[in-house]
Amino acid sequence: RCKTYQRGSYTLFTRKMGLEIRERATLMQHLHEAFDAERLFLMYQPQIELSTKRFIGLEALIRWRTDDGQLIPPTEFIPLAEYSGLIVSLGAWVLRTACFLMVRLQKAGISPERIAVNVSVVQFRQDDFVDNVRKALNDSGLPPNHLELEITESVTMASASMFEARLHELKNMGIHIAIDDFGTGFSSLSYLDKLPVDRLKIDRAFVQQIDTPEGPRIAELITQLGKKLGLTVIAEGIETQTHWDVLSAMGCHEGQGFLMGRPMPEDLLLEWIKEFGMASK
Ligand code: C2E
Ligand code: MG
Ligand code: MG
Ligand code: MG
Repeated sequence: RCKTYQRGSYTLFTRKMGLEIRERATLMQHLHEAFDAERLFLMYQPQIELSTKRFIGLEALIRWRTDDGQLIPPTEFIPLAEYSGLIVSLGAWVLRTACFLMVRLQKAGISPERIAVNVSVVQFRQDDFVDNVRKALNDSGLPPNHLELEITESVTMASASMFEARLHELKNMGIHIAIDDFGTGFSSLSYLDKLPVDRLKIDRAFVQQIDTPEGPRIAELITQLGKKLGLTVIAEGIETQTHWDVLSAMGCHEGQGFLMGRPMPEDLLLEWIKEFGMASK
């Protein structure tokens, strides 16, 4: 593993500033140690095509198990990793691990269409980002069209032209691009028409809203927008049959959520595939 950490940007480190400085420094040090000691691991959550119930993809989600067995969610440590620059080597490791998992599945005769990997804006703007992606694909032997990168709207906003060129380069390699947490950022919509995006991910908050007086209207808006632009739409956080039914009825293409499958380590994923994934083919 690469042990050179580059410093991230202060501007990205906002939410977790609430932590005491000393607390933060300790957590950061523990995170670096955990990475070196390989105590970070990936879980995989299935993605399902709503109309066919077909198992079509996976999202790789990172976890950190501390020495004393505590599980720290990525929302707690990804901002720290971005701040310290660890995200660059961490992100490269996630990418490689996900590609290798996918190749293992393919060798076992299980071939979902894609594995989706979350990419931080700090990682994306590194000069060697595309090279890292290419290397992960080459080393694992995963064909590029089985990889999807999930970026957030912050990627599409920052330094538009350089990022645009980079996205086109990835797209030309055959890699898929999804906009994660769509609708939660503040970017203009014009970029959607310009950028080589394949998929919009409806944020979990809008799926949860289905159960409130607001109802499914935002989810519906995103689905219609995606369709107008010729994009696939996937909803995250489907927890109930009602969520599934409402999203299916509005024509949302795909979904992931606890109703179908939680993020799972590799062994449990294989069990899940035997029970649900294969049966749904
Ligand atoms: P995300 O990419 O939007 O991932 C979806 C989150 O929703 C995951 O949380 C997943 O476990 C959770 N989720 C999925 N279905 C359900 C459901 O039905 N109910 C509920 N309550 N939650 C559901 P998780 O794994 O805690 O990850 C949180 C965020 O951390 C991710 O949001 C992503 O932004 C970030 N993240 C995770 N892994 C990585 C990584 O490898 N690299 C980077 N840069 N960020 C990551
Ligand atoms: Mg994601
Ligand atoms: Mg998301
Ligand atoms: Mg989300």
